Amino acid sequence: MQVKVKEIGAAGLNLDFSYTLEELPVLAKMQGTADLKFVTPVECEIRLSKIAQMVEVCGSARVTVALQCSRCLADLSSELQVEFKQTYVEELPDVIDEAGGEVELSAEEMGLILFDGENIDLSDEIQQQIVLAIPSRPLCEEECKGLCLTCGRNLNMAVCNCNDRNINMHFASLLDFKVDK
Ligand SMILES: [Zn+2]
Ligand SMILES: [Zn+2]
Repeated sequence: MQVKVKEIGAAGLNLDFSYTLEELPVLAKMQGTADLKFVTPVECEIRLSKIAQMVEVCGSARVTVALQCSRCLADLSSELQVEFKQTYVEELPDVIDEAGGEVELSAEEMGLILFDGENIDLSDEIQQQIVLAIPSRPLCEEECKGLCLTCGRNLNMAVCNCNDRNINMHFASLLDFKVDK
């Protein structure tokens, strides 16, 4: 999605649009490597305003992802919603320090994004925000009991005796130790 800056009027510009995964290579690549799948297009609502030589963009994006619970491996889906605000500039403003000298700062250090003055590409920003919103350890529910490390049973569905047995074996080995001595 390229926004032409000359289409932003004095009252600003509101845009509703969606990206398919093919238009978002960072997310497409993630889907290929991680255990997740984007199941809806990325729906965006964006507002752009021109302020002097700057373009301020604020908006939100949402997408549903299918993930696996990090404890019990159950499938789950999660709606990610992100909000963001960015300022795009054609040229970086001069920054003067207290002594009157010019300070060299990158666009990133100033919290600005450079663009060519004509078109703003919002896909980088939106992809970045969505990547940050993906939970690193998704859970089917806060209290998920996970899988038994011994028998692999899903402890949300059934109980197993592995834990008891482990404790018994532990005592048994202590007894053996005493006998050997
Ligand atoms: Zn779970
Ligand atoms: Zn078990």
